[in-house]
Amino acid sequence: MKLLQNMTVMGHERVAFHQDPESGLRAVIAIHDTTLGNALGGTRRWCYGSEADAIMDVLRLSEGMTYKAAAADLAMGGAKSVILLDTPGQEGTEAQARAMGRFVDTMEGAYIAAEDVGVSPQFCAWMHDETAHVMGDEGHGGDPSPFTSLGCFNAMKACLAFAGRPIDFHGITVGIQGLGATGFKLARFVREAGGEVVATDVNPHAIRQAQDELGVRVLGDDEDLFTLPEIDILAPCALGAVLDAKNIATLSAPIVCGTANNILAEPEADGQLLKDRGIVYAPDFVANAGGVIRLAGLYLGLTEAQVDEKVDRIEETTLEVLRRTASHASAYDAAVAYARERIDAGRSTATA
Ligand code: NAD
Repeated sequence: MKLLQNMTVMGHERVAFHQDPESGLRAVIAIHDTTLGNALGGTRRWCYGSEADAIMDVLRLSEGMTYKAAAADLAMGGAKSVILLDTPGQEGTEAQARAMGRFVDTMEGAYIAAEDVGVSPQFCAWMHDETAHVMGDEGHGGDPSPFTSLGCFNAMKACLAFAGRPIDFHGITVGIQGLGATGFKLARFVREAGGEVVATDVNPHAIRQAQDELGVRVLGDDEDLFTLPEIDILAPCALGAVLDAKNIATLSAPIVCGTANNILAEPEADGQLLKDRGIVYAPDFVANAGGVIRLAGLYLGLTEAQVDEKVDRIEETTLEVLRRTASHASAYDAAVAYARERIDAGRSTATA
């Protein structure tokens, strides 16, 4: 992999590698852009197929964080880190978390770590024992998923408005893929607002809980969430890259709005296909920004009320981006342009 070339093309400022023989930690921190401020982004623990895969992941995710923070109007840049696991599902140890905390500390605040796949509030707390630049443990924002789900629910309202429908969930069916930390809470918001939820998960326990506590209908074995005609809003809340050219061609939902990161396999091309098909797509980094708004907001010294107001504003931002889609190739492009405008404005203020 030509790392410097990729950094140049994608616009990364800094990529750092670290290995700690005692804990076995192997990690990468990628800082994409700090024009608007120091950069917050989760730490992902994952067993990658290769080092190149891990590096591409951290480059891509950190770039996404820049747009997410900028579109959410935070004085934050974008970054991310990954911890490479030898085998899938390896437990995070205190020694590994502390070694990661020391690595984060070498960035002197330019990078602020947080939770991501494979990292728990406890892991964040252990990192916090070594550096002040961590959010997401008890006492430092905690679990951000309730805010991510609420932000996504707000983005759904904007999608309904843009589609010319009343902002009313009665009579609306939301198809949720993944009933984990964010999907489950999103299902609750939809149910509390009077909507129906059809959902799927690979974890039978998550399904049972959603059935029992929320009255969610579980997708049948012979049904496909992506082609089920009754679904008004498809909400991917599990994995990335779930929409591609093939399934967009047959997608039945008129609206896509979920919490998952990187929903589109090929953002530019797939975004355009969605637009061509008249499907309203809430760009993921706008719709799922609630969690980062919470953690970055508290880190920056915002009050709880200011954080809540910013999470509410996801509805307005989503609508603004959707309105701009007409003059862009796709909603994704419109969202990137919206974020870049803010970064450019920040750069010109800084150099004025
Ligand atoms: P989670 O791990 O708590 O939940 C994911 C759920 O998806 C699990 O219940 C899992 O069993 C299920 N799942 C996995 N593969 C599936 C499949 N093939 N089909 C159906 N279900 C499947 O994760 P989360 O925190 O809810 O995050 C979900 C997505 O949202 C991820 O892409 C994450 O990066 C993104 N996200 C999360 C947050 C947050 O605050 N947690 C913030 C922004 C973005």
